[in-house]
Amino acid sequence: MSKVLVIGAGGVSSVAVHKMAMNADIFPEIALASRTYSKCAAIAESVAARTGVGVDTHEVDAEDVPALVKLIEHLGPKLVVNLALPYQDLPIMDACLATGVDYLDTANYEPKDVAKFEYHWQWAYHDRFREKGIMALLGSGFDPGVTSVFAMWLKKHKLKTIRRLDILDCNGGDHGQAFATNFNPEINIREVTAPARHWENGQFVESPAMGRKVAFDFEGVGPKNMYMMYHEELESLARFIPEMERARFWMTFGDAYIQHLTVLQNVGMTRIDPVLYNGVEIIPLQFLKAVLPEPASLGPTTKGKTNIGDIATGEALDGSGEKTFYVKNICDHEDAYAETGNQAVSYTTGVPAMIGAAMMMQGHWRGEGVFNIEQFDPDPFMAMLNAHGLPWTCEELPGPVEF
Ligand code: NDP
Repeated sequence: MSKVLVIGAGGVSSVAVHKMAMNADIFPEIALASRTYSKCAAIAESVAARTGVGVDTHEVDAEDVPALVKLIEHLGPKLVVNLALPYQDLPIMDACLATGVDYLDTANYEPKDVAKFEYHWQWAYHDRFREKGIMALLGSGFDPGVTSVFAMWLKKHKLKTIRRLDILDCNGGDHGQAFATNFNPEINIREVTAPARHWENGQFVESPAMGRKVAFDFEGVGPKNMYMMYHEELESLARFIPEMERARFWMTFGDAYIQHLTVLQNVGMTRIDPVLYNGVEIIPLQFLKAVLPEPASLGPTTKGKTNIGDIATGEALDGSGEKTFYVKNICDHEDAYAETGNQAVSYTTGVPAMIGAAMMMQGHWRGEGVFNIEQFDPDPFMAMLNAHGLPWTCEELPGPVEF
């Protein structure tokens, strides 16, 4: 039994499925199912053209647990890789429990009616997964995902403790559109309009969304403004690096993006509560998603690089006192597009999803229950990043960050 079933057929799924097909020794059989069959067929066609590998395609509504159970039973996969939306995490975990199949995702569960990014809903499945003898790996994208693996690699090889951690996420890509998001617009806008939160002295400290701005010179991109915001790996990092005194997450946004988002927010277009329009209930943010460019459509025009990494300060493993290290990856949008037909934001998420799946398929990472990526040996994952399109570097900085 060595089949993988991928659910969802957006940009991230497209990259992951292409990369799985390029590693047929690990993924000899690939099945792909999503809500819109034509999107699965388009990915399968591209994979066949680029790699010569066949992908078995199906249509399924992942929120319909009985239908999903039937599909999983029919296909008999070893692992279900959830690359649909965070709303589907719990139904897909339910279907995995019912069928006794391992699970992986890249984003934590969110209820549709409130923008809350918390792990407790999924951590609550731990005992049931353990009793069933199956494994769930949560958050195997870039952030969350690689950013946590970077931190654990630093803890294994460079730092005895991590006292302060800053995660810096820069998308220096230009897609030529006045306003567009580079992954699912609904999820992206929910994330950036939520209040900022960072970890400090044993608790989360909340502050207004986009309230803290710092200029930073990103290698390969140049100077950019980055904003402090909440990101879900802060919760798992705080849990698995208990000595951490402060952890913050920063993301770059251009002035035009902030300006458009501010107007959309001010006029109510980012609301996630229902509004009555011509006798029909609509959710303004879902309507906005429908009129914004599909992230996948930005691939052919996006130029520039992403630069995502961790800066960590703590006590050096070799006893040489306090040290600061910066681990990062730089990814080029045009190179990513040339390889799989998707821009770098999908690429930097889809590749780690494939690698996390490889860790499970090959048995490098194994456990019974629900696990975050921080709980496993970072070394085989870091080695695969280098070999599969996301090479990383580690440098020592002269001292802690000054912001
Ligand atoms: P897309 O919107 O491009 O793709 C989502 C896919 O899920 C679509 O094909 C969609 O189907 C499908 N889907 C939605 N609802 C259902 C359902 N009920 N049943 C079956 N399929 C469904 O998103 P992305 O590819 O950009 O993102 C995918 C995931 O990756 C998201 O969870 C996102 O949060 C996460 N992500 C994680 C990152 C990380 O670094 N950890 C970074 C970026 C994204 P349809 O086509 O019919 O709408």
